[in-house]
Amino acid sequence: MRPQEPVSPRLPATHPDGGWGAQRPPLPAPPLDLDPAQCDGGSTPVTLRSLVLSASASAPSGVRVLRTGITAEECDAWSADPQEARHQAVRGGLRSLLGAALGAEPVAVALDDGPCPYCGRLHDFTAASPVGRRLHFATVRHGDFVVYAVCRSPVGLGLAVPDGLDPDALLRARKPARLAAHQGAVARGRCSRPRDGSVEYMVRYVDTAPEHGCVVSVVCELPRPAEHPGSRGPSTE
Ligand SMILES: [Zn+2]
Repeated sequence: MRPQEPVSPRLPATHPDGGWGAQRPPLPAPPLDLDPAQCDGGSTPVTLRSLVLSASASAPSGVRVLRTGITAEECDAWSADPQEARHQAVRGGLRSLLGAALGAEPVAVALDDGPCPYCGRLHDFTAASPVGRRLHFATVRHGDFVVYAVCRSPVGLGLAVPDGLDPDALLRARKPARLAAHQGAVARGRCSRPRDGSVEYMVRYVDTAPEHGCVVSVVCELPRPAEHPGSRGPSTE
């Protein structure tokens, strides 16, 4: 006996946009704190932080710290860009967060956020400390609003701008945000092979205030089962 078809099209119960994903509360992204260590992941494997650039600009000490967190090369590279200060603040915030998480000076953190050597796309960014500790990170920005994610395994962030603020519009924006986040979370090297289901991913949404006008998804690779301890890709420690 066939199960009864749903009356109207609806998403599968396990679909992260409409099923359990809608039931799970979005993960908080507390404001980026520039001073104390920020290496907690809470109950999830990923650390999320947010930054509002206009708020930082109004706090001279904050923007100074953000801008002093970047390297001389980054400063030179953006010197001709009218958005220089904002790029520098975003970069400085990222370095500040990664430096705290890696136990290193922000400017000493080596960032690899260039194209993937396997597929040429931008995904699975990594940061390394001078002593070889390594973390994965992702950044998304919408106007003045920035979200950072740091994780021990490949992590991606995706951002979509809904076409309205009603619940349906917000729900529709989840899919492109989730797909973009998933693309960023694919480990380098794995992108060149067909997906075989051997890797599990955590898919969640980020708690963003309505005034930021965007939906942000975070996806990260979940640790493999203990019986395959040596099979993980590059990770920290
Ligand atoms: Zn790739």
